[in-house]
Amino acid sequence: MNTLIQEINRKAEHCPCGRHVRIEMHCSIGQGVLLQLPDYLTQVQCRNVLIVCDSNTWHAAGQKVARMLQQAGLSHQVCSVAPDALGDVIADEQSIVEIMLETTSETDCILAVGPGTIHDLVRFVCAKLHKRFISVPTAASVDGFTSAGAPLIIRGTKKTIQTTSPAAMFADTDVMMQAPKSLTAAGFGDMLGKYTSLADWKFSRETANEPFCPVVYELTQEALACCVEAIDEIACGTEAGIRKLFEALTISGFAMLLADHSRSASGAEHHLSHYWEMDGIRNGKKQLLHGAKVGVAAIIIARLYRGLAEDDRFPYGAIFRDIPQPEQLAALLHAVGAPTTPEELGIGSSLVERSLKEAFLLRERSTGLRWINMNNGWDFLNRN
Ligand SMILES: [Zn+2]
Ligand SMILES: [Zn+2]
Repeated sequence: MNTLIQEINRKAEHCPCGRHVRIEMHCSIGQGVLLQLPDYLTQVQCRNVLIVCDSNTWHAAGQKVARMLQQAGLSHQVCSVAPDALGDVIADEQSIVEIMLETTSETDCILAVGPGTIHDLVRFVCAKLHKRFISVPTAASVDGFTSAGAPLIIRGTKKTIQTTSPAAMFADTDVMMQAPKSLTAAGFGDMLGKYTSLADWKFSRETANEPFCPVVYELTQEALACCVEAIDEIACGTEAGIRKLFEALTISGFAMLLADHSRSASGAEHHLSHYWEMDGIRNGKKQLLHGAKVGVAAIIIARLYRGLAEDDRFPYGAIFRDIPQPEQLAALLHAVGAPTTPEELGIGSSLVERSLKEAFLLRERSTGLRWINMNNGWDFLNRN
């Protein structure tokens, strides 16, 4: 991975778009890479470490990390973030304060040991308190581990705050293989969403002249292709499958870092997913996995966009004709055991309808879904 980072930086130097952020990160992915952590910490002179986890990830990896640090003579504190009344750990004000209370002037670095939520909390606290941020993912569940944006729930509303990317990541496939299958399936769903996000990005370049980088586009596209190719191994949960999925997610994260925006990885399918998430928070519902929602939303968006592409009056059909048919996406998601319909997620048809009309307002970004809503596109689709 570290050679890949160098290669990405080199490619970016030659890219005509000229707008990149250099990626500076130590990145280890594979079996047993957690064992490298104490040496790394010693090398970068981190002697006081705060481990942030939740009760599940404490057992999955936190405990092991704590033992290794102790053996290496590094002192550590543990902050296990408490879940809410429904049993979910939420990236909100309360959890942020909980971690800040455990962080002292002596703390050299904070380890995020857990899923995306734990990472978003630690990323925010590290940026605010100027601490070194180290990532220890426990599941191949999202593409956001290495990114700088922290989606936080502040007073019940989701806001993405630009913070900091990790200085290092140790992604141990031995740990990630033990994660619940639903988390791996969600990671695959987040990755499949790139079919529609990449199409939306091309669409935004075409229709709104939004910033576009061919290097970032190709990186994401290749990662998506590798991931889909590995579907059988991912479905079986083999080490190779989990590694390939996690590598694809990580590369998608690097692409966002390089571009300094998330257009490659997040289009209308993510806007639907965010809309559903905010509705769930408002109504006190249990949280759904990000990638599970994105996968289902990608099927819905693929159906819409393919429908548009078939209408001669739609001027950008060529962009959307490359998106796989919704049935193909559903088959891929089904193969890894991911949900394929809103009903399976407990999302009713009225919420889906509402989100299709309103989710594009969540973000000032040109997408096919925005176009449909602003240009009577629903008439096109109804006539097909
Ligand atoms: Zn995502
Ligand atoms: Zn570029």
